[in-house]
Amino acid sequence: MKQSTLRELGRRISRRKFIRNTSLATAATWAMGGRVWAADAAPAKTLGVVLVGLGSYSTGQLRPALMKTQLCKLVGVVTGRPDVGAQWAKEVGFPAQNIYNYDTMAKMADNPAIDIVYVVTPNGVHAEHVIKAAKAGKHVICEKPMANTVAECDTMLAACRAAKRTLSIGYRLHFDPYHKEMVRLATDPNFGPFTKMAGENGFTLNGDQWRIHHPLSGGGPLMDMGIYVVHAACMAANANPVAVTAKEHPKTRPNIFVDVEEALDWTMEFPGGAVATCQTSYVKNYGHFHVEGAKGMIDFPSAFGYGGIKMNTSNGPVTFPPMIQQAAHMDGIAQAILDKKDSPVPGELGRRDMVIIEGIYRAAASGQRVELKYA
Ligand code: NAD
Repeated sequence: MKQSTLRELGRRISRRKFIRNTSLATAATWAMGGRVWAADAAPAKTLGVVLVGLGSYSTGQLRPALMKTQLCKLVGVVTGRPDVGAQWAKEVGFPAQNIYNYDTMAKMADNPAIDIVYVVTPNGVHAEHVIKAAKAGKHVICEKPMANTVAECDTMLAACRAAKRTLSIGYRLHFDPYHKEMVRLATDPNFGPFTKMAGENGFTLNGDQWRIHHPLSGGGPLMDMGIYVVHAACMAANANPVAVTAKEHPKTRPNIFVDVEEALDWTMEFPGGAVATCQTSYVKNYGHFHVEGAKGMIDFPSAFGYGGIKMNTSNGPVTFPPMIQQAAHMDGIAQAILDKKDSPVPGELGRRDMVIIEGIYRAAASGQRVELKYA
């Protein structure tokens, strides 16, 4: 579908969400009360971040998190609505010249205050926006899923390599203490390795939005929610799957889920025989993950949320102090940029997950086991 058509489809859906998000943004600013660290505690260098797409995730999670980051500062926005941009500039305190639209992103090249461009638009336009940001000479963070297809991921990686800038993915759970503990236990010889994984992630989707339009979403709940189970299973297995099988559920709301799946079951086979059994849905509210091996077991009754993750293990329950995943995520990426190191959540990881997701869709369509090739 042409970019202009994608934009028009998006515009129709976005107009309806504007009023709700604007009031969320205002509430978030009042609630946070500005940046938290005093000037004398500030690190020597902070990186300027621009958010692209001021929808639910930017407004409800990233903007408040950017009031808590130590190494990142919100310095601008890219939006199709100048009035919304002006409101953010006033509330956050960045200059009006740092408000861009999707057609003026190239001008960011002339703005030294911008170090990182964070793309938070619908999946089908991630590639367009990441490539524009890279061509403007900025480091890029792109929300999950990285793109609609592996081919798009390749163009995004090539653009960032050509610009000598890093590309990171919005995998916030890499920075969550519960998921980090699962990874630690997976490689602890007294606890791991895990040979069986099981997970479900979904929510009840109501209303018309880009998530149910294939050109903008690339697919249904697998792209949006199932990707967390795909990613967690790889983290728990400490490996990439070699093959997948999948089965789409019959649609109970076919008038809503016209060109995307409503719900899907799939399995992932890992080298050495470990297996993950997974499910995702737009008609069920759940978010569970379970791993086990010969020596230990972990159960997450609530596995993938922004907070409120619960973790029980065969050694007893585990609890960590509350934290802000999105602040840790952005600071972790910024630290790697400042240290001139590879991203902790690189674009290659986003591409890996899209290889798996494309394999799952092929398996569901054919009814066959699909072997995965990552090269
Ligand atoms: P949203 O619909 O609330 O916001 C999307 C924004 O993109 C809107 O401001 C919209 O105006 C803008 N936009 C730009 N070009 C567009 C186009 N062509 N069509 C439609 N809208 C366009 O969506 P969201 O929930 O904020 O999701 C945005 C991205 O963030 C998605 O990739 C989603 O998967 C991801 N996300 C990640 C998390 C996470 O936990 N990491 C959570 C939510 C969403």
